[in-house]
Amino acid sequence: MPLVVLTTIIPISKNSSLEKRQKKEPTCPKCKNELNARIRRGFIVKTFLFWLPIKRYICYNCHRKLYKLS
Ligand SMILES: [Zn+2]
Repeated sequence: MPLVVLTTIIPISKNSSLEKRQKKEPTCPKCKNELNARIRRGFIVKTFLFWLPIKRYICYNCHRKLYKLS
């Protein structure tokens, strides 16, 4: 079952030291809430800025969508 493999891999990668070495989670400029929810990039960004290491986040606190360069 592919589903079983997926559920066993995810917790291991979350606890890996590699992720801890990365920059800490970006925060919302408005409410300083931690942006840990990534959403799909918009059509324009996907079409014209696909070469940029850009990530789109949503803040569930103030419902702002923002892009961050990683
Ligand atoms: Zn916010």
